[in-house]
Amino acid sequence: MALPPDQHLNFILIPLMAPGHTIPMIDMAKLLAKHGVSVTIIVTPANATRFSSVIDRAVRSGLSIRLLQIRFPSSEAGLPPGCESADSLPSYSLIQNFFVAINLLQKPLEEMLKELDPSPSCIICDKHLPWTADTCMKFQIPRIIFDGMSCFTQLVMHSLYTCKIHERVPPTEPFVVPGLPDRIEFTRLQLPGLFNPGPINFGDFREQVKKTESMAHGVVVNSFEELEKSYVNEFRKVKGGKVWSIGPLSLCSNHELDKAERGNQASIDIEQCLKWLDNRNPGSVVYACLGSLGRLSPGQFIELAEGLESSTHPFILVVKGGSRSEEIEKWIQDEGFEERTKERGLLIRGWAPQVLILSHPSVGGFLTHCGWNSTLEGISAALPMITWPIFAEQFLNEKLVVQILETGVGVGAQTVTHLGEYEKAENQVTRDGIKSAIERVMDKGKEGSERRKRAQELGVMAKRSVQVGGSSSLNVTLLIQEIAQLGKTKKGIA
Ligand code: UDP
Repeated sequence: MALPPDQHLNFILIPLMAPGHTIPMIDMAKLLAKHGVSVTIIVTPANATRFSSVIDRAVRSGLSIRLLQIRFPSSEAGLPPGCESADSLPSYSLIQNFFVAINLLQKPLEEMLKELDPSPSCIICDKHLPWTADTCMKFQIPRIIFDGMSCFTQLVMHSLYTCKIHERVPPTEPFVVPGLPDRIEFTRLQLPGLFNPGPINFGDFREQVKKTESMAHGVVVNSFEELEKSYVNEFRKVKGGKVWSIGPLSLCSNHELDKAERGNQASIDIEQCLKWLDNRNPGSVVYACLGSLGRLSPGQFIELAEGLESSTHPFILVVKGGSRSEEIEKWIQDEGFEERTKERGLLIRGWAPQVLILSHPSVGGFLTHCGWNSTLEGISAALPMITWPIFAEQFLNEKLVVQILETGVGVGAQTVTHLGEYEKAENQVTRDGIKSAIERVMDKGKEGSERRKRAQELGVMAKRSVQVGGSSSLNVTLLIQEIAQLGKTKKGIA
């Protein structure tokens, strides 16, 4: 959208420092810049290092994006140096310290805003930074929140927040969420922390997020209209129309290197990974990754590994660190798992180039923890999913995939395992549950083929939505027009 120079727009993006939040914001920066606005992303030094090569490439391609850095107050908050993203915390017992550090960013950010030239047209910030409401009010800047969840989840959360039905039923008893376009059941133990708190005391943080959410001018959502039409419409009503569904944001990474370096440097050689995939049959590989934060207990890791081994399919298994990673590694070595599965299994220890892998034609199924980014990346890659929700709103995402979209099969997880409890959790999921879900998803018979067909149709819709004239592309234009109009009203032009 070409605007006259005096109406040129400058968007400030402030992500929450966790991969599931920073990664889509980096994609969003590219998307907005492609639509002609200038974008400034505020990050801390370690995050700047993590994202600089992707941003440098975008800038070299002519996009107006800059990364501005503010120091992360690790020492003031009692965190080890360099610990600037939730996935780099040595233990989730430090999560409160992490949020203390994040709250301390308000002052330096405000100092930066005073100096910023040109001044911001709007700030798009993660909703988990409630202090940005105060900052935007002080500086009279429109605040748009990015929440990183689907409209389905937003609507479920809105309904529960309003009617509080989950407080009136026993924790393991299923109840129907009122007021939704579909009949959706959960138990309280499957709900996110706002409704089903875990052992970590977040004080009134979640209430603050809720309160400041309602003060925002609008919400950008990483989803696309065709995926969850009735939920987008209903959520828009709740928000007085100010909802812009602009995803899937991962589809902004169409450059091969952007896919390979998305979120971090991959811990496997990209050529080796692609060669391994090239040597498998189309649609034959199961890719198993439980996100950036999810950690498994050794017992649950063994169930996952054995479940993959007992299915007949080639697989890629992403092995994350965490406080019990040595026990997991010892099992892999002592039991000879890697050696005995080497003909059809590839282990990636650390950061996997997920979007690159998902888009490879040899991949036929995605075993996911149902983080929203991963879920949408699986949908965009036209893949059926094997679902293993663990924490946050992942059981809600599983419900969307398994019950509404009918493109997934669950492994049998029943209750949320909260942050800080993953590495202790046992007996949630069994190898038999995993094997059976894999077999159903990869099945070449009628059930599997129909599921695959639905996944393929969604993949096509996802790609269309971000092309010129597609729903998400139009929504980006509408968002930009909204901010342009707010700027004119402020200047008394219109
Ligand atoms: N991711 C990745 N490689 C990994 C782990 C995660 O590229 O080894 C990316 C993944 O593609 C997604 C994000 O990290 O974009 C994780 O976000 P999600 O919402 O799926 O889950 P979370 O990590 O927040 O639980």
